[in-house]
Amino acid sequence: MTLTSDDQSVATTYTTVDPRDGTPIESYPVVDVAGVAAIVERAHEAAAWWAGLGFAGRRRVLGAWKAAIARDAQGLVATISRETGKPEGDALLEVMLTLGHLDWAAKHAEPVLRRRRVKAGLMNYNQHASVGYEPYGVVGVIGPWNYPFYTPMGSISYALAAGNAVVFKPSELTPGTAVWIAGKWAEVCDRPVLQVATGDGGTGRALVAAGVDKVAFTGSTATAKRVMAACAETLTPLVAECGGKDALIVARDADLDAAADFVVFGAMGNAGQTCVGVERVYVEQPVAEALTAKVVERAKRIQAGGESATYGPMTLPSQAQVVSRHVADALEKGGTAVYGGLDSVGDRLVTPIVLADVPEDSDAVCHETFGPTVVINTVASIDEAVERANATDYGLGASVFTRDTHLGEATAARLRSGVVTINSVLGFAAVGALPFGGVKGSGFGRIHGADGLREFSTPKSIARQTRKAALNLLSLERSDRDMHLVAKLLPILHGKG
Ligand code: NDP
Repeated sequence: MTLTSDDQSVATTYTTVDPRDGTPIESYPVVDVAGVAAIVERAHEAAAWWAGLGFAGRRRVLGAWKAAIARDAQGLVATISRETGKPEGDALLEVMLTLGHLDWAAKHAEPVLRRRRVKAGLMNYNQHASVGYEPYGVVGVIGPWNYPFYTPMGSISYALAAGNAVVFKPSELTPGTAVWIAGKWAEVCDRPVLQVATGDGGTGRALVAAGVDKVAFTGSTATAKRVMAACAETLTPLVAECGGKDALIVARDADLDAAADFVVFGAMGNAGQTCVGVERVYVEQPVAEALTAKVVERAKRIQAGGESATYGPMTLPSQAQVVSRHVADALEKGGTAVYGGLDSVGDRLVTPIVLADVPEDSDAVCHETFGPTVVINTVASIDEAVERANATDYGLGASVFTRDTHLGEATAARLRSGVVTINSVLGFAAVGALPFGGVKGSGFGRIHGADGLREFSTPKSIARQTRKAALNLLSLERSDRDMHLVAKLLPILHGKG
């Protein structure tokens, strides 16, 4: 399906290709500044209607949308797989995880966001205090290509459930997935509450500047900085979900088979193109050799590309060069390739690479590689592992493997990241109630969970005076008697520390 709405101003078009064989898929408009403005204007009108539907009305529409997507899931799976090159099984899992979040957001919006009474406190006994969460209006969602459904829907589902209209600018590599989603929306709702503006970075820039009330950006840290600078022009609030350099710590008492399974899944799955993928492993010295051997054993069984692929080609062709640069730098600086190496990097397809003893100042340790590679470095203690894990500019996810529950929890508490998994990786991704987001260069703000719903809402406080106060302090004609009482009360109320 091609986006050809009459009133979209289209400067030009572009054609997507299947990363597996370069076959052209479909042409899409590059929506320009005027086109984006028209879409956003329509979204503002739809936003008022959508907000007026209330929680129950919105929940019904979101439920119908979810069902329409689920009934035709194979169509979406085929679209995702064709645009990204990932195996259909991976795309199917992506759809299942995403619909779980849509369901959670739709069902929890009312209990999380509805107006509730809060305690006013002893001195304010004459105030009925309440807080409610109102939608911003129109949220501009800008998404990446690696999980073209799950990732933007983390913003879209929660923004819609909170009562906002959404204009979604997908990555230029995966517009078909976005258009498919919007098509399903149109089947269940005749208002433009969810619209798509396809195009390139320029379309994203136009969206940020088009008068949206909030921007939800997911992508690289470098682009997030540009988006944030643009948001500053209009003081538009931003939630930024950026890259990561996740560390996985393996304690000497860990189940090494389980740890190795998860290392390979977290590092190589989706060809390593996962923001919360495993990029670095810090393993305690007594088990380092055994863990490395188990990781290599599993990496050897991976089928990169082809008929029964474990993972497909790099979706973004230039990412293969990033992998190559990081591997070359790691080897030049004294690291060892224990499996694969520079020869593993093809034009589009990268076979698994396991590096060991890579200096901590090398690119493969400091910067996001986003390929099917992993660095395994040996440490003397968990303290050293935590110190190294925390030493990058990123702070998205982290993992700990240990049989000691106390050690696991204590280590999780010391890791500077938005999410930590213990004895798994990505274990949080399907849990609707868990907020997701990063710290440091990995961004700020949260999607998913109650915090995700509040991220797309603005709190409004109401204090209703129910009777006259005993002490009349909110007056320019305060009495000496009342002020005398305040002076007496102050140490009683606050003087005890
Ligand atoms: P980019 O930062 O290159 O692009 C992200 C989106 O921003 C794309 O839609 C892009 O459009 C658009 N864009 C580019 N320039 C601008 C601009 N100046 N103003 C507004 N929008 C703009 O990221 P990728 O698409 O390459 O995605 C990979 C990155 O995303 C990785 O770093 C990964 O870690 C991160 N990511 C983070 C996640 C998280 O939840 N924390 C989840 C998934 C990925 P176009 O593509 O058309 O250029």
